[in-house]
Amino acid sequence: MSGPGGRAASGTSGHPGTRLALLLGDPVAHSLSPRIHAAAFEALGIDAIYLASRVPARALGAAVAGLRQPQVLGANVTIPHKQDVIPFLDELDSTADAIGAVNTIINREGQLVGHNTDAAGFMTPLAAKELNGRPVAILGSGGAARAAGFALLTHASPSVLTFAARSPDRAETIARDLPAGASGADVRVSPLAEAGAAVRDALLVVNATPVGMHPRVSASPWPDPDAFHAGQIVYDLVYNPRQTLLLKQAASRGARTIDGLEMLIGQAAIAFELWTGQEMPIEVARAAVDHSP
Ligand code: NAP
Repeated sequence: MSGPGGRAASGTSGHPGTRLALLLGDPVAHSLSPRIHAAAFEALGIDAIYLASRVPARALGAAVAGLRQPQVLGANVTIPHKQDVIPFLDELDSTADAIGAVNTIINREGQLVGHNTDAAGFMTPLAAKELNGRPVAILGSGGAARAAGFALLTHASPSVLTFAARSPDRAETIARDLPAGASGADVRVSPLAEAGAAVRDALLVVNATPVGMHPRVSASPWPDPDAFHAGQIVYDLVYNPRQTLLLKQAASRGARTIDGLEMLIGQAAIAFELWTGQEMPIEVARAAVDHSP
């Protein structure tokens, strides 16, 4: 196989050895990424394995240093390390730099380059054109809200982007950091409890909070189902379960729904290509996780 940029993998014997990709996070046991990447490596006959590694914050620097080994293709980074990993890297691509978070690292012959594939992965199930000139709303103000906001402002031109957040001060920071200028969007922040009109009027509502995730599946980040209607898109970044209460209620009011597996596979496909130079077989990857609980 070849490594990033077509570089041939080599072991100490001069023959390509088994390559390694890692997931660094805490916790990682719930992650579907190992199944996605293992299925893709196998389908393409790539001699590589993907290992989820639970890394507590105090061990992050040592774990990242280990990625410089020649057999390592790179890593994914997940909660809680997406921002804290940055000082341990040699370089950031422009998207990771603008978002201020890294979810993918490539090992380029010992040099570690940080990328953010969450933003482009978020856009994969959306058509930018349908969002242009229309209001959108994001629930939450964490890393996923930041990546979704960046994606919407750089790949589309919504009229208004409202961050509806339990912690509006965190959302204010995101709104200040994002490059709103290029899209011309009016970026607003609202306390979650006061965002009724923004959610009702939005063409696209994104849940970027963990509310509704297993095991608390009877919770919704937006408990008023009457806010939803036909002609609206409701996109839940939670993928466990796929059909969250939010999506069930939105669908019952006629809205189009998108579940979090779309973004999960979208971001994985881009990371896979960065590591291997090959296109991920999307349907194989999807089949590997589609029946997940
Ligand atoms: P994060 O950085 O921890 O942020 C979580 C956000 O949710 C924060 O704004 C937090 O508010 C808010 N929140 C938490 N509990 C809440 C509640 N009960 N009511 C209202 N707001 C609440 O996490 P993240 O990385 O952004 O991830 C958020 C969700 O997206 C997770 O479920 C994650 O699995 C999912 N995600 C999915 C994908 C995918 O590929 N599908 C990718 C990334 C993330 P405070 O600031 O007030 O705590």
